[in-house]
Amino acid sequence: MKRLRPPTIHVNDTVYACVAGITIPERAQALTEALPTIQRCEAEYLELGPSGQLYRILPSLGVTPAIDAALMGVIYKSHFARQGSLSRALYDRIRMAPEFGLCPLCGQRIVATIDHYLPQSRFPALNLTPANLIPACSDCNKRKLASVPTRAEDQTLHPYFDDLGNERWLIADIQPSTPPTVSFHIRAAGAWDEVLTARVRKHFSVMGLAELYVAQAASELADMSYGLEILGAAAGPDGIRQHLEIQFQSCQARDSNSWRTALHEGLRDSDWFCGEGYRLIRTHYPENV
Ligand SMILES: [Zn+2]
Repeated sequence: MKRLRPPTIHVNDTVYACVAGITIPERAQALTEALPTIQRCEAEYLELGPSGQLYRILPSLGVTPAIDAALMGVIYKSHFARQGSLSRALYDRIRMAPEFGLCPLCGQRIVATIDHYLPQSRFPALNLTPANLIPACSDCNKRKLASVPTRAEDQTLHPYFDDLGNERWLIADIQPSTPPTVSFHIRAAGAWDEVLTARVRKHFSVMGLAELYVAQAASELADMSYGLEILGAAAGPDGIRQHLEIQFQSCQARDSNSWRTALHEGLRDSDWFCGEGYRLIRTHYPENV
């Protein structure tokens, strides 16, 4: 997961922008009258979020008697998020915040939408709350679905609130095989408590990150293989290891726990890979057709 700075806008901004764009007077009036309730819900969210307590917020069927979950969904989709709406600039500010447009939930795929951390259908009063709006790729958005955790340890990670630190915690295991096999596991950092450890594992499971990273690592190895063979022929295992060390340091300088950082560390630390494994990557390429 990639940490994100929380949006600098608040629910007053998103609600007023929606109200200004709603042409049905009764609907604009109802949303204006719901603002105090929506503000209270945002305050509760901002109080509980930093300590990982969002699971304590109770679901509801509506915001006020005049605005049920379905209508709040319409307000979100047809007014807040609609292309060309007055509030679309705020939507885009949230959606485009991640560096290089990469999804903070997987760190890999491109942001395509905004995910409600607490889902719209169960928490309509948080539909327009910026801190509840997370830029996400389509896959992560679909995988998360509308599930509602009832225990702290069942919550996926929240990019605005959860800090995993810079200690190495994503580990790549290299198995001697032809071609080399890479798998990933999580090693709890010293600063994590049991709940955070469980949440990181939950996040990886829900988002399917182990499988995603295995596929990416296999492709990366294939890209590296030709260069490693040339380097190995000239400089031997020590040259391979030094090269992998530089790659590891380079990846780590940007992200301590990307799959690339973990992969290069795992390869560097594998005597088998540095000695002979690097020559066994290309032998199993499918024939070009
Ligand atoms: Zn994603």
